[in-house]
Amino acid sequence: MSAYDPRSLDANGFIHHGEILATLAEARTQAEDPGRVREILQKAATFVGLTHREAAVLLEVPSREVLAEIFTLSRKVKEHIYGRRIVMFAPLYLSDYCVNNCSYCGYSCTNKTMERRRLTQQELAEEVRVLEGLGHKRLALEAGEDPVNCTLDYVLECIQTIYSLKFNNGAIRRANVNIAATTVADYARLRQAGIGTYILFQETYHKPTYLGVHRGGPKRNYEWHTEAHDRAMQAGIEDVGVGVLYGLADWKYDTVAMLMHGEHLEAVFGVGPHTLSVPRIRSAVGVSASDHPNLVSDEDFMKVVAVLRLAAPYAGMILSTREPVGYREEVIALGISQVSAGSCTGVGGYAGTQKLGEETVPQFEPADHRSPTEVLKDLLRDGYIPSYCTACYREGRTGDRFMKLAKSGQIANVCQPNALLTLQEYMVDYGDQELQELGRGIIERELATVPNPKARAATEAFLERVQKGERDLRF
Ligand code: SF4
Ligand code: SF4
Repeated sequence: MSAYDPRSLDANGFIHHGEILATLAEARTQAEDPGRVREILQKAATFVGLTHREAAVLLEVPSREVLAEIFTLSRKVKEHIYGRRIVMFAPLYLSDYCVNNCSYCGYSCTNKTMERRRLTQQELAEEVRVLEGLGHKRLALEAGEDPVNCTLDYVLECIQTIYSLKFNNGAIRRANVNIAATTVADYARLRQAGIGTYILFQETYHKPTYLGVHRGGPKRNYEWHTEAHDRAMQAGIEDVGVGVLYGLADWKYDTVAMLMHGEHLEAVFGVGPHTLSVPRIRSAVGVSASDHPNLVSDEDFMKVVAVLRLAAPYAGMILSTREPVGYREEVIALGISQVSAGSCTGVGGYAGTQKLGEETVPQFEPADHRSPTEVLKDLLRDGYIPSYCTACYREGRTGDRFMKLAKSGQIANVCQPNALLTLQEYMVDYGDQELQELGRGIIERELATVPNPKARAATEAFLERVQKGERDLRF
């Protein structure tokens, strides 16, 4: 086995099995030492993040009192860096053709009961029209892997269509892309198309489990998949997102490995992952969650989110509609900065453009079925600012420029006013009376907290212009 080296370009070198096992073994001992745990918590409280070795100790902490302290600290770190804003997005499924055989996914090629489809450009325009009508400005494009039925040319055409569509209330302003691992040349074409973040979930970093659940197709190649973010960054994509599908392998193993992946990207490219995604396995067509022996309990999952927030304070953390209402709110408070709302997890699900008699087959079953307006109202009631902001990407604040601002704490100075501006847009364009009242209360409260009088005045002036009909104002 090769030695552990975060700068290695070999997946087995930077996601080093021996290093993960040694980390977890050391963590079990250190977690019993209150002095060591205290030292790690004190470091986390300074917002500098934690190494994978330090984070592992917190994952192992047995004491409930210390766990409560970890939760309190993660809430504090989250609030310090992100304020009260929660970024909203929606997934958009382009195609469910897939040549891979992933045991946990309804789109696996062995699922012969579903009729496959991909959106025509006209159907795509319909989907986008519905999404825009719900207030969305930021999409995550999803597609299965199929080199014949879902080519890169097709995906690029879809991106072009999405960016070309303009509606009364605006347009989709940022399209993040979640498609299969590909070549540097293909990533360069995605970059040229103006994508936001390139997101690829590892699913699990534990290689034997990875090979066990990926039973066929190109995705079975562990190294090709794990090194994909490197190729994307070599192609000039500055913002990449990683993710674990919790429930496949041991959650501590995968959490440590995901942090090592981030350390690798930082060591080689100078920028860690832009986002961390933390979906948990749910049932889908032909997939039973109980088939997977490593399902993560609610309490352990909260620990994962809290420790990731402390370890990687500047990475956005994304929660999907897989989590049920109520529990979702608890997890958001611990460290989530982006959530999806009103999601359809099947092709053509928003506009209902499936053929007569044909049902949209979801990739997984969401547990949160609220409409975006309902989600927004609940967030506002909980004191958050739901944000449709896409300013950084469009102002060129990506990659290391974004991270510099994030690490110096300056990003909060633009996040908060931008969140208020997009909330104001939403209230005027899509909100009912109840939402407008809730929104006004939050805007008033948040404006009062802007410390710099000039910044406050500028935000107030922009809010007034939005109220009068101007759109897409941003800092
Ligand atoms: Fe295909 Fe992705 Fe589902 Fe695997 S997880 S079967 S690659 S759509
Ligand atoms: Fe995200 Fe930048 Fe907007 Fe903040 S200002 S919400 S970091 S796009």
